[in-house]
Amino acid sequence: MNLHYLEKLGVDAFRTGSVYNSVIGGEFNQAGTGEQFAARSPIDGAQTALFQNASVEQLNAAVEQAEAAFKAWRTVPAPKRGEFVRIIGNLAREYKEELAQVVTLESGKILPEALGEVQEWIDVCDFAVGMSRQLHGLTIVSERPGHRMMEQWQPLGPVAVISAFNFPMAVWAWNAMLGLVCGDSIVWKPSEKTPLCALAIQAIVDKALELMPEVPKGVCSLIVGGRDVGQAISEDRRFPLVSATGSTAMGRSVGETVGKRLGRSLLELGGNNAMIVSETADLDLALRAIVFAAVGTAGQRCTTLRRLIAQESIVDNLIERLPKSYSSLRIGDPRNDGVLIGPLVDQGSFERMQSTLKTAVEQGGEIVYGGERLTDNVPAGGFYVNPAIVRIAHDAPIVQEETFAPILYVMTYETIEQALDIQNNVPQGLSSAIFTESMREAEFFMSPAGSDCGIANVNIGTSGAEIGGAFGGEKETGGGRESGSDAWRNYMRRTTNTINYGGDLPLAQGIVFE
Ligand code: NAD
Repeated sequence: MNLHYLEKLGVDAFRTGSVYNSVIGGEFNQAGTGEQFAARSPIDGAQTALFQNASVEQLNAAVEQAEAAFKAWRTVPAPKRGEFVRIIGNLAREYKEELAQVVTLESGKILPEALGEVQEWIDVCDFAVGMSRQLHGLTIVSERPGHRMMEQWQPLGPVAVISAFNFPMAVWAWNAMLGLVCGDSIVWKPSEKTPLCALAIQAIVDKALELMPEVPKGVCSLIVGGRDVGQAISEDRRFPLVSATGSTAMGRSVGETVGKRLGRSLLELGGNNAMIVSETADLDLALRAIVFAAVGTAGQRCTTLRRLIAQESIVDNLIERLPKSYSSLRIGDPRNDGVLIGPLVDQGSFERMQSTLKTAVEQGGEIVYGGERLTDNVPAGGFYVNPAIVRIAHDAPIVQEETFAPILYVMTYETIEQALDIQNNVPQGLSSAIFTESMREAEFFMSPAGSDCGIANVNIGTSGAEIGGAFGGEKETGGGRESGSDAWRNYMRRTTNTINYGGDLPLAQGIVFE
């Protein structure tokens, strides 16, 4: 497949014969000895390109390049490092349309959402450029006369990034743009489902390297492969930090492996996001938020709304109106204007959705709407579904699980305290929301006794976070925070310096040792 936007981005340069490979230290690298695999588009299941898994030698080469690059990069003044990120951001602006087309091709998300994803990358660049002048620590008073204490934030080392298929560009950007201004080098293992997106990004990085030749080429490398390569990265002591985004099962494995060698992991894992709709809520507003959060990106966002917890006096109203809204949404080829719901990523995803729906019914759930595969007016070979609405008891075991597909469970509550209990009583803790016009309910929801999630929104849906805030969640979501606020600190090490400018040597805690 030779798609014009890939050619325009320069991705074809990374190919010999028919096979793409890893890109290490700015060079297309052919030393892969792993199995070949085909990348496929969820749009129609067609093969887009052939790839070769990275070999152990390639991973080694990437880490060696990253180590060497880090040694030079860490001493470049941070605002100068920001300059490199600014160039990357400007190139992402210039190629936004082409980049978004690759996102749509490989993840199946509709073009407006793909453009939004590239915009997120651009926004993170702007944010990181600003941060490059604000990597500040504290000055702390000392208990000893003639002394001063301060904190400094220093570059950390080569950072590994392992990313999921559903945000094939933004997740890399959250990590890499901040990591680069912090003085780190980055080795990226993208999802094996979206390797062309990674090559498109690498092509942009290569252009930036040409524009700023003093930047060491090994600051950004790309290692193609699946779980085995991810496992090898997790085991590698030369990565002081492994940032991994994906399922909870993956995060558990990465967390354990990195933990065994006492490295740091930054985990961004599955969610089981809930919205409480109170009897005081503006239901028109809530309805719009529910629909976007539950079916946007075909239910394949980590922040997708999966549990609607409605006050019992208004649940019938919602159950009546939601199917009407759902049925007005166009489902089909995500490249077409007006389509709002694209395909599931692959057959496995479709099968998991079907088995979840079956289990939900066995556990007393009632499918109020949708759930079936669509074959009319959609490209053959893709897995397009009608998003499902399932009315179910809050304590049905299936409700505890994240199924990465558009299934919305609807359940009821009596009191706001009970709603919060239902919301928090799942293993995951990513995103949550309340729709209410009651100040008391809103404040209770955000209070220490309220939502236990990393994201707690009022009168906004669960998905679509802004990059300025720290993004991530608690419990089995992994506890990591990326993107805005002070997430940059993840990519640095903190040193505490105590300076003696007096002529004496007093000890801390008043100890006398003479
Ligand atoms: P996945 O877990 O199947 O794969 C994610 C990445 O991990 C891929 O690159 C994969 O090759 C790699 N991987 C898999 N097993 C591994 C292992 N044992 N060791 C090392 N690497 C391994 O996830 P997916 O299907 O690509 O993405 C969907 C999941 O990601 C959902 O659970 C979703 O909620 C989650 N997600 C979370 C966030 C967040 O920020 N919290 C963002 C996006 C996606």
